[in-house]
Amino acid sequence: MDGTHKEFLEKRFGNRVNFNEMERVLYSHDIAAIPSLISPLIGKTVPDAVVQPQNEEELVDLVNWARQNNIALTPRAKASSGYGGVLPVKQGVVVDFFRMNHILSIDKQNQTVTCQAGIVWEKVDAALAKEGFTVNLYPSSYPGSTVGGWLAQGGAGFGSYQYGWFRENVVSARVVLPDGSVRVFSGPDLDLIADAEGTTGFIIDLTMKVQLDEKLEVIAIGCPEADAMQRIVEDIINVDLPLWSLVFINPRMAEMKNRSPLMEHNGHPIEERVLLPAAYIATLAFWKKDKSQIMQKLPEILHRCQGEILSERIAEHEWKNRFKIMVVKRLGPSLVPAEVVIPLSKLGRFMAEVENKIQQPVVKEGTVIRRGKDGKPEVVILGFIPADQRKFSYNFVFALSLSIMKIAERNGGRAYSTGLYFKSKAAKVLGKDRLARLKSFKHQIDDKGIFNPGKVIGYSVMDSAMNIGSAMEPLIRPFGNYVITHIGERKSYPLSDIPADVVWYAYSCSQCGYCVEECDQFYGRGWESQSPRGKWYWLREYLEGRAKWDQAQVDTFLVCTTCELCNLRCSAALPIEPSWMKLRGKLIDQEKRMTFPPFEMMAEALRNEGNIWAGYRKNRSAWFPEDLKEKHGPGQKAPAVYFAGCTASYVEHDIAIATVRLLDKAGVDFTYAGNPENCCGTPMLVAGKWELFTDIMKKNIAVVKHTGADTVISSCPACDMMWRVVYPEWAKKLGIEYDIKARHYSEVVAEKIKSGEFVFPANNMKPVKVTWHDSCHIGRASGVYEPPRDMIKAIPNVEFVEMEHNREKGHCCGSVLTLIKDPPIAAEIGKTRLDDAIENGAQKVLALCPCCQVQLRVTAKKKNMPLEIVDLAHFAGNALGYEFPDPNPDVHSQWGVFDAFISLMTPQGFANLMGTMWPQLIDAMPFGMGPMMRAMGKIPGALTLMKPMFPVLFPILLPMMMPKVMPVMLKRVAEQIAMPDYMLEQMPELMPKVMDNLMPHMIGDVVPLVTQPMIDYLRGKTK
Ligand SMILES: Cc1cc2nc3c(=O)[nH]c(=O)nc-3n(C[C@H](O)[C@H](O)[C@H](O)COP(=O)(O)OP(=O)(O)OC[C@H]3O[C@@H](n4cnc5c(N)ncnc54)[C@H](O)[C@@H]3O)c2cc1C
Ligand code: SF4
Ligand code: SF4
Repeated sequence: MDGTHKEFLEKRFGNRVNFNEMERVLYSHDIAAIPSLISPLIGKTVPDAVVQPQNEEELVDLVNWARQNNIALTPRAKASSGYGGVLPVKQGVVVDFFRMNHILSIDKQNQTVTCQAGIVWEKVDAALAKEGFTVNLYPSSYPGSTVGGWLAQGGAGFGSYQYGWFRENVVSARVVLPDGSVRVFSGPDLDLIADAEGTTGFIIDLTMKVQLDEKLEVIAIGCPEADAMQRIVEDIINVDLPLWSLVFINPRMAEMKNRSPLMEHNGHPIEERVLLPAAYIATLAFWKKDKSQIMQKLPEILHRCQGEILSERIAEHEWKNRFKIMVVKRLGPSLVPAEVVIPLSKLGRFMAEVENKIQQPVVKEGTVIRRGKDGKPEVVILGFIPADQRKFSYNFVFALSLSIMKIAERNGGRAYSTGLYFKSKAAKVLGKDRLARLKSFKHQIDDKGIFNPGKVIGYSVMDSAMNIGSAMEPLIRPFGNYVITHIGERKSYPLSDIPADVVWYAYSCSQCGYCVEECDQFYGRGWESQSPRGKWYWLREYLEGRAKWDQAQVDTFLVCTTCELCNLRCSAALPIEPSWMKLRGKLIDQEKRMTFPPFEMMAEALRNEGNIWAGYRKNRSAWFPEDLKEKHGPGQKAPAVYFAGCTASYVEHDIAIATVRLLDKAGVDFTYAGNPENCCGTPMLVAGKWELFTDIMKKNIAVVKHTGADTVISSCPACDMMWRVVYPEWAKKLGIEYDIKARHYSEVVAEKIKSGEFVFPANNMKPVKVTWHDSCHIGRASGVYEPPRDMIKAIPNVEFVEMEHNREKGHCCGSVLTLIKDPPIAAEIGKTRLDDAIENGAQKVLALCPCCQVQLRVTAKKKNMPLEIVDLAHFAGNALGYEFPDPNPDVHSQWGVFDAFISLMTPQGFANLMGTMWPQLIDAMPFGMGPMMRAMGKIPGALTLMKPMFPVLFPILLPMMMPKVMPVMLKRVAEQIAMPDYMLEQMPELMPKVMDNLMPHMIGDVVPLVTQPMIDYLRGKTK
């Protein structure tokens, strides 16, 4: 792609176009792992650019530009398909529909919804639920695929028993055609867009039918044979049982599910193992109103066909986990897919033949469509064979998918879809007439073939290969059957320094995308590299030698806010956040790469004074109320000790004061450690500075032991997480005795409220509508969801409303981590959280975490949002009649200092700083180089000649120059940053250490920025 093309895209899309090499790699694939023998046939699929249009106008401009310049455009939604439809085989531009993700209207009368193509099913359904509706049907990739993607790809899923194929549920689609015109397709004309994978037009938005959201019931049934399953389904159809959805699995799948790892939290399973019988298991979903009718007839059908109703537990388990089929991939770590459609009348025969001919464990999931394409019932069979894509034998196992296809075709079946790999099957998949119509339309509107080239229609090397493979299937099959398949996790050896389990997970990730849209780092920035899916893919690239660590990639792992939302969403139950935590250890603790620069300042402050805010230790307990000292102050003995943490001790004093007031009023017996208390260590843990973290942890354990208490009560969720989850784990690892219990004050107070020991008295507060922000650390990490709510609900004059994303699904605030790394992105993430609160009409957002409160307050100010962020203890304390200092001035002034340090500690920040002290820097050069440089400045061309040497010289000279220039540097920093006195006093000690730690990492980026300004100074052009 040449410069003018790039210029157009940059101008039109700003930061919504990406040319970064690794980012483009992440947009070059879908979920399929292509065998090594096939990928050369596909060729290069890395696009030249990725763009993210956000409206129709932009899309039209892009199409017109691409047509004029003959540039291929490949649409991509969530890339959860596996037929190669999103692969840009002619490079060009990948058009990512991520930002076209809005609901446009809900028509209650006609029961339809109109939404943009890039919206994920789960989000459409959530919006419909608010209005009492639900979608007619959805794919099992519901948490991670889009409505536009499904129309373009074609498919069936949950609800297809009643509603058929998705295309039949679409009323109309608004499409931009390759000539740049926009047209609405409806009725039979939808055939030109549906299943066409964007080869004939880009879907902008679509209108689809929806239904009333009634109560759904589920039953699981089991039977021993596929034949019996076929007869049961046939009978269900014959007697007209009013089911909404009917899906089933084969015994192999049941076995694999039984062996799959359970979802874990901190290394412990957090779900119950529900063992499935080794049988064909069907899950029937229907409306509650139809239950009695179904239960009248079902037992007789089952009796006739040797079937039985399975336990409610199994039914519930299968339904709850209906989107998590990829958990079996953990046992592969790869799965060879084979997806076919067969007539229901051939189900038994098809299954028997597959069992007979394929000597690999084929796990299958079937979706029954009552009225299929020709009006007769058909079944979509999704088969998987466990395999290992890293081995050459994967090629042979992959070939078995052709065997399954052949068996399906022999039984009157067909391929599920076309895409890149099964174009030669298009006549069967789409029907001959429809294919002819599609070809003629394509010819008419896209003669240059720029819309998703190489897909659905046409011919390529790939088709020849597939045809040859198909013809030779009987000869290839024995090789596939011969491969010995290992089933089970084999996390045996680290690779390229990546821990063994992380290596296994990288290949187990199915790339389904469930984790993408809910990862704050993704929705803050909008690019795959920031999502867990992108990170796993990057790791594979690294493990296979196609990627290298650089600072940007290190930062990508470091910036994860540890919100843990992805762990709960993952279709394979992968411990994602703990894996990134392991990488922090490898990158920073072991390899001593650079962490986020502000952490270096915090680390030095922490080493000296035990806190990250550079306050003095002697002032740590200054907030403690005088009148409570005798009862709860330092030195008092009690079974519990209050742990205030750094931010409440030094910045948001209201939190600490209110907490001890509240605990006191509630009659809790507690003490406070006072000045010996240290930072809990969370910042150092996430910074990867684990030596320092261990040191702090040990000190804190000793401090608490010294108080004589056996329980730590925290107010800060991160502190709570340390005492409850992280310290015990690390103490065990380090052989430290640890018998300290952790409680959050909300738990203690809520218990007192429940037992009637404590009541919030009537108050004269103005009635107020409040909502609750579940911070990630008190919620997903520590599992404390209800106690804060119980407390709020017990306060008179308060109306409590939930945000849409609450409890396990609560959105992260963006965390101080994003604020440190990327302040503008932090404001975007914080806005997502606060929008949720504004939507439910809340006046105040109550929160616990001091850092969430800093981040949300900074966001509310930056984005001008009409919301007050209030600490829960502060709020509860007000209800008890106490007044507390307003934390806002301190938060904003401390944040101002921090923000200034963040800008300073960047290559540009340091370059600017150096630009203010050239005379001193030149004078500080060792070996008489200063006068020499000055002399060279006077000789025309001399410095230009020397320029290439600067990148070599600077890293050698700078450490020698630093001590000499430090006084002036401190002066300049003080001029630039309005620090409080106590910080200013400590700077002479902190700054040199910070510079020592950072400069070796940063100097390479600083030198190019300072070279020309220094030359200009030496030539006398600047002062
Ligand atoms: C765990 C899991 C479960 C699945 N379950 C099912 C299932 O039950 N049923 C089923 O049918 N499939 C299923 N799939 C496959 C896949 O999820 C579906 O095909 C899904 O509809 C693809 O949606 P997407 O948003 O990811 O689209 P993508 O994969 O991004 O795109 C699919 C095709 O549509 C084209 N396209 C995307 N957006 C547009 C647009 N706006 N305009 C024009 N063309 C466009 C792309 O170029 C591509 O050819 C599953 C996949 C996974 C990983
Ligand atoms: S823990 Fe949160 S921020 Fe980190 S990868 Fe997971 S979802 Fe993203
Ligand atoms: S990490 Fe999990 S949810 Fe995310 S793409 Fe991989 S398998 Fe899917």
